[in-house]
Amino acid sequence: MRVLVTGGAGFIGSHLCESLLQAGHEVLCLDNLFSGSMRNIYPFLSDRSFDFIRHDVVQPILLEVDQIYNLACPASPVHYQFNPVKTVKTNVMGTINMLGLAKRVRARILQASTSEVYGNPQVHPQSEDYWGNVNPIGSRSCYDEGKRVAETLMMDYHHQNQVDIRIARIFNTYGPRMSINDGRVVSNLIVQALRAEPLTLYGDGSQTRSFCYVSDLVRGVRELMDCEGAHHPINLGNPVEVSILSLAELVRQVTGTSSQICFEPLPPDDPERRRPDISAARKLLNWEPQVELKKGLQLTVEYFEDRLRK
Ligand code: NAD
Ligand code: UDP
Repeated sequence: MRVLVTGGAGFIGSHLCESLLQAGHEVLCLDNLFSGSMRNIYPFLSDRSFDFIRHDVVQPILLEVDQIYNLACPASPVHYQFNPVKTVKTNVMGTINMLGLAKRVRARILQASTSEVYGNPQVHPQSEDYWGNVNPIGSRSCYDEGKRVAETLMMDYHHQNQVDIRIARIFNTYGPRMSINDGRVVSNLIVQALRAEPLTLYGDGSQTRSFCYVSDLVRGVRELMDCEGAHHPINLGNPVEVSILSLAELVRQVTGTSSQICFEPLPPDDPERRRPDISAARKLLNWEPQVELKKGLQLTVEYFEDRLRK
């Protein structure tokens, strides 16, 4: 198949491109390189089944493809808050453009949605039928509400135009190819530990997240795309929940750093806890994460050690 991956030069997108190439597909990687990097896709440029297009999804584009994975959107709060209006445009206009393309060429389209649609959840763990608790006017809203509108658009194009859609609600994912200055917690803590700098913990570190290693996530996303008839959102994430303080302790253990922890103010609207209910993915896709947090952190530390040496 000919597969379009928007945001394909980013962290998750580059792993998805790699997985699709390995499965024998032709891959069109589209990216404006805002938070992604050519470094992530250099190894694929010599592959005749791989093409890169520098393009912004906010602008329409016509391509002949069979499947579209719409991942284009900065995912780190630092990046998506840099230009919030652009983040909304990417999620709304970008998704309309990709849905318009899917409709025109009759391609199946998967939207990378997020656990952020649940906001600061009052239901725990979060299952797909929970509508969420999102601040519509806060510093995270451009991303959270942008992704919620993207889901609305997916459902409406499906009902109104019979577009064959998939929606993956992705929970915190980490691994090699996150950028050094990504700003999310796993890359921040590892880079700080390897540089023997203090580990920055926002708040008291009691807030929780559930971290999924990127290979598990990419497998889930691909299985969702290839599964028949899943026209509703599906959670994809690792259900093992940890506090950010215990994550920092694990990073100290895995890196062997002597860095101390320093506490900084908690950003506004930072969700207190987050854990996916993945019963739907288990049932529908027979999918389950396999990589334990400690193992995934070791693999990620190896990547950053290499990056920091260069
Ligand atoms: P990332 O920032 O590494 O990748 C996003 C990619 O999209 C980058 O390469 C960036 O340059 C590109 N991009 C941004 N705006 C664009 C635009 N207007 N036009 C074209 N390209 C654009 O982030 P990631 O972690 O790889 O996330 C990928 C997708 O998965 C995003 O849609 C994100 O919202 C979603 N997601 C990620 C996580 C996670 O924990 N990593 C969790 C939930 C959802
Ligand atoms: N966080 C932290 N130190 C950092 C970066 C993030 O303590 O250097 C916290 C952040 O406040 C949040 C959690 O770690 O509570 C996860 O943050 P991230 O930005 O990775 O993801 P998100 O908040 O979008 O889930």
